[in-house]
Amino acid sequence: MNKLYNSTISLFQANPLPVLAAFVMLSLFKPQLIFAQETDLLKQKAIEQVDSIEAVIEEMAIKLWEYSETVLQETQSAKLLISKLDEAGFNIETNVADMPTAFVATYGSGSPVIGILAEYDALPGVGNQAVPERKPRTDGITSGHGCGHNLFGAASVGGAIALKVIMEKNNLKGTLKLFGTPAEETVIGKVYMAKAGVFEGLDAVLEWHPGAANEVRNQAGRAMNSFEVEFFGQSAHASADPWNGRSALDAVELMNYGVNLMREHIKPTARIHYVIPNAGEAPNIVPEYAKVWYFVRDINRTEVKKYYERILKIAEAAALATETTHKVHLITGVHEYLLNRPLQEALQKNL
Ligand SMILES: [Zn+2]
Repeated sequence: MNKLYNSTISLFQANPLPVLAAFVMLSLFKPQLIFAQETDLLKQKAIEQVDSIEAVIEEMAIKLWEYSETVLQETQSAKLLISKLDEAGFNIETNVADMPTAFVATYGSGSPVIGILAEYDALPGVGNQAVPERKPRTDGITSGHGCGHNLFGAASVGGAIALKVIMEKNNLKGTLKLFGTPAEETVIGKVYMAKAGVFEGLDAVLEWHPGAANEVRNQAGRAMNSFEVEFFGQSAHASADPWNGRSALDAVELMNYGVNLMREHIKPTARIHYVIPNAGEAPNIVPEYAKVWYFVRDINRTEVKKYYERILKIAEAAALATETTHKVHLITGVHEYLLNRPLQEALQKNL
């Protein structure tokens, strides 16, 4: 995984991503370009190439919005992006890292090996019509692209297709790889792809995210752990027989209280947030089962590890105090980005 982030160019928020992606790629191919003039000419061609497929990019963005498929269910979304890359002449590898909706599309050969990341998963519960105010969809789909992964997927694929044409027409050597990375909103597909060695051999990889400003962000993002803690107690009638009950919900509440007190004694860069997906069935039943789901983040992995260990101690203490038992399930974890300053500067210059 470190390998992946070592080679990450930058996180930036930009609408003209396809153009920028092509620009940056061209800068990376530079050793083969003799004159600056030639580079400028290629950049002009890149703009024209992206313009010429604008309708295709838009169509992908709208369809991804319509599909709004959540974590690891991105079947139609992946299929759509794959079909466009296939049509454009990329070699497609599907079912990557044992995830049916992960894929790699490759064009060319030899070095440099340049990657572009694409995400296309939606979030549960934020479904909306494609209008700038709250308006639920009428087709029953409740999930939605809350942070714009429909644009993310469409623009990355558009950038890759445009660049492939430019490489082909101008005889630019190198390998271009578009990574279709699913499940970004929860388990983070890239972690599993990195573990399976999918990113090995890359010289650089371009990542972006839709946002409110077009900018190169010299900000490392946060390292994170996502984990659940389950508590198991003893059910009883809450009015007739409460002394025989041991509440799993009490344990969740006690754990959260402990973590909330801990907040005073952590660095301001840390972020800790939770939801309670399971908290009992009815007030008159002592809950025998409850579950809390946590994210803990900070600017680097070392800090996250420290807070994670402290929170696990609090969970253990909560179980002890409530005479319940508990289980910890680590869902996923990531490192912070390792940024590449020279490539970011090239990106900024082009922007
Ligand atoms: Zn996002």
